[in-house]
Amino acid sequence: SSKFNITPLEQWSGVKTKPFIITGPCSVEGEEQVFDTVRQLIENAGDKIHLIRGGIWKPRTRPNSFEGVGEIGLPWLKSVGKEVGLPVTVEVANPEHVEAALKAEIDVLWIGARTTVSPFAVQEIADSLKGVDIPVLVKNPVNPDLELWLGAIERLNAVGIKKLGAIHRGFSSYEKTAYRNPPMWEIPIELRRRYPEIPIIVDPSHMGGSRDMIYTLAQQGMDMGFDGLMIESHRNPDKAWSDAKQQVTPQRLAEILNALIVRQPKIATDELQPLRDLRARVDRIDDYIIELLSERMGISEQIGTLKKVNHLAIHQSERWAYIVKRALEKGRTGGLTEEFLLKLFQQRHNESIRHQSNVMEK
Ligand code: PEP
Ligand code: MN
Repeated sequence: SSKFNITPLEQWSGVKTKPFIITGPCSVEGEEQVFDTVRQLIENAGDKIHLIRGGIWKPRTRPNSFEGVGEIGLPWLKSVGKEVGLPVTVEVANPEHVEAALKAEIDVLWIGARTTVSPFAVQEIADSLKGVDIPVLVKNPVNPDLELWLGAIERLNAVGIKKLGAIHRGFSSYEKTAYRNPPMWEIPIELRRRYPEIPIIVDPSHMGGSRDMIYTLAQQGMDMGFDGLMIESHRNPDKAWSDAKQQVTPQRLAEILNALIVRQPKIATDELQPLRDLRARVDRIDDYIIELLSERMGISEQIGTLKKVNHLAIHQSERWAYIVKRALEKGRTGGLTEEFLLKLFQQRHNESIRHQSNVMEK
């Protein structure tokens, strides 16, 4: 009962074994730069690369930074693709970009994170693609909103684009983190759970924002069982006109791809009895956790009633501080991270407040 009508990635890409690899510079900077970079990519990792990327129009956070070479770069990218025998992809953000890219016979289009956030922009792009049979990859919106991401894919599917994929590039956060865009793996995991037919490609470059994080993030993407990777590579990363910190040399890209461990996404559990046993134990514990939580919320409701009669606020900050402190102490000795415990207890607390509000409002 799926909403999507999607051609499998293997079918349109011809790539039978994971991962599907997209690489190339963040931006096309010049004819020589793109040729040199792509030739080096092929020399170093030719057998592992399936699609060449290069930004032609660059969405930049602040004006007056390099905004891409524009249309003039399209034939450079296309001809290097022809030379090495690979399809090429560019980011499109409006119907004019689509028209120029189609005219230049660009093989695959992608929609950037700053465009996916705008249903108007996505709809205009979709409308400009009516009747065109071209693969389109949709980056997640900058904000962690799965519905918005799905909505963009849906708009394209609705005009007849069936060769579709999602690119997970992380989500921006106001807080400073180790990542440029924290991965929030739970979001693509939920996408996969709900729509397993949508291929998911992981972009560790824009997640990490720094060269040294790319391998780990790429491996994590493989460990989640996702389908491919988009990794930015430049012949001279430090001199790149955009995203210099996160681009890797073609040599480094080859090392990363060679080091990746690609694991089976699915197994027949009957073939692995010990795994089946462990999973059965885990399921029992999860059932138990749910039963305990329901019981706990029942007590919260009784507490809510008491607070109501005594005109007490639902949220008592000292009590909450005490609960968190206890949980962190206890969890730490059990090998659980503070981040996990805090999130878990915040969610649990929200649910408890909901139960108490229900009885209070009665
Ligand atoms: C890019 O791929 O160079 C890019 C601009 O990415 P994003 O849309 O994910 O920020
Ligand atoms: Mn980039």
